Amino acid sequence: MAESQYSQELRVAAQAVVEASKVCRHIQSTDDFDELSKNDRSPVTVADFGSQAVVCKAIQDAYPGDPIIAEEDSAALRLPDQISVLNRVVKEVGKVIPDATQEEVLDWIDQGISREPALRTWTLDPIDGTKGFLRKEQYAIALALLINGEVKVAALACPNLGTIESDEIGFLFTAIEGEGAYVAPLSDPDDRTRISTSGCIFTKDARFCESVESGHSDHSWSSEIAQHLGIVRDSVRLDSQAKYAVVARGEAEIYLRLPTKPGYVEKIWDHAAGYLVIKEAGGTVTDVHGYPLDFSRGALLSENQGIIATNGALHEAVVTAVKSGNS
Ligand code: AMP
Ligand code: MG
Repeated sequence: MAESQYSQELRVAAQAVVEASKVCRHIQSTDDFDELSKNDRSPVTVADFGSQAVVCKAIQDAYPGDPIIAEEDSAALRLPDQISVLNRVVKEVGKVIPDATQEEVLDWIDQGISREPALRTWTLDPIDGTKGFLRKEQYAIALALLINGEVKVAALACPNLGTIESDEIGFLFTAIEGEGAYVAPLSDPDDRTRISTSGCIFTKDARFCESVESGHSDHSWSSEIAQHLGIVRDSVRLDSQAKYAVVARGEAEIYLRLPTKPGYVEKIWDHAAGYLVIKEAGGTVTDVHGYPLDFSRGALLSENQGIIATNGALHEAVVTAVKSGNS
């Protein structure tokens, strides 16, 4: 098959998130996460910093000068009282990048501090679903390339995700715009299989998923919508963009992310990779008003509120149900 325009970018992105998964998995296996609290009181761990260092280094090596809009920065790690956490990050990164120094690791992390829109930019959530990571449940390493505000390439690693088809744990989801979406086991990332969303056409048969955290998505509102749509099955709650992966692979039909408070603006790193994977698998993603997601504004989805992602066939019905309910 002919090389497509973004084949090289996908190779770099896929390899970067696979390496970062190794770092995250090792840290999770130690049961010692060196958790810190950020200004917004959300948690961050050595794995978030380690993953960001590994992925940003890979992008910088392949595409020097490409800006990266990533979730973390190194400010907390540079504080004198955090030296033991910094040393741990360097040690964990050293498992996949031997001889990495403190200064290099801090610099790699800070490659991700871009926030402005650019003609070509990457966006990275080094650990999406940090709360799931801390609970040893679902989390994801989510990387996407945006060209002119449009998501062109996605690599989404879900190290703790299983499947209904086998006992395998840990999958890599990839997509290039216009070329379909694929899954591979993290244990053999070149063994790719094309995926597609479910063919379900009746809302009553739909399976829906949402955040574990009720602060991230309104659970009582979603259960009203489910009732309205005649959905009988309970929602499946899982952290991170693993929700996008599950819908893309046809194991659920609907992902609802319903705003819990006015004024919260979604971050592009929480959605860009999952968005392209679902879209390329045949699904549809909009905000709760049914508007397309606008990734052209820099770090924020400032023109959108909440998320509705579906298998495609059910999208209009779900948007109508969300719009008709007042919460
Ligand atoms: P999830 O695992 O789906 O619950 O999403 C995790 C992401 O939720 C984190 O990466 C945060 O960026 C994001 N988040 C934090 N606060 C909120 C909020 N109030 N509403 C929606 N998302 C949020
Ligand atoms: Mg996140």
